[in-house]
Amino acid sequence: MFKRVLLKLSGEFLANENGFGISPGATAQLARLITEALGGTDVELAVVIGGGNLWRGARNGQGMDPATADYIGMLGTVMNAMALQDAMEAAGQPTRVMSAIQMAAVAEPYIRRRAIRHLEKGRVVIFGGGNGAPFFTTDTTATLRALEIGADVVLMAKNKVDGVYDSDPRKNPDAQWIASATHLEVVERRLEVMDATALTLCMDKNLPIVVFDLFQPGNLRRLFMGERVGTLIQS
Ligand code: UDP
Repeated sequence: MFKRVLLKLSGEFLANENGFGISPGATAQLARLITEALGGTDVELAVVIGGGNLWRGARNGQGMDPATADYIGMLGTVMNAMALQDAMEAAGQPTRVMSAIQMAAVAEPYIRRRAIRHLEKGRVVIFGGGNGAPFFTTDTTATLRALEIGADVVLMAKNKVDGVYDSDPRKNPDAQWIASATHLEVVERRLEVMDATALTLCMDKNLPIVVFDLFQPGNLRRLFMGERVGTLIQS
């Protein structure tokens, strides 16, 4: 069983059927799934949530100062973190939201040692606000926070894709599923795991990554228990 894990969720997990906004129904379903998978285990869970359902700096901010566009994206991740907190607490799981951008009325500031303390006390820590810096994505936040809190693994949750393929399985019916690969193979073969900055950091620090289908029943729990699910990337 893993001791401490970091789960990366795209903002799209919270979206409505068109991929936009925050759907309370989708958020509640997601929160129940995570809370049930955690139930009765001693796994300490931290979550990084993206913001692509609300705003992506590069896509939505065209014509704007790129840094400002990215800061808007970071604020979106705090909204998602608050929505997920609300739903997880409704499902019975104590949580804390920590934001990389100070927003004292709605979230604690990110303080590494305090985050670890929350985890030790059994609270799920949801990291909002990305890295607090533009020109990054929340994939880098997932990697950075995982390293900071000493997580055993980064779990990259996917929506109905059961791991990494040698090409996009939604476009190429002959795409080959990959059970495991090294970080270097992912870089060299340009496999779709996370963005290059995040991947390089995982490679440098030897942090394992699992890419898996969050909605395959039992997957998350099996992962928490240390079973092999999805594609494993390690050096
Ligand atoms: N962002 C940023 N710095 C960070 C994390 C995120 O500037 O450290 C901004 C960036 O504009 C990004 C947006 O927040 O496009 C939303 O995050 P992301 O695209 O990673 O969300 P996801 O695809 O995981 O939903």
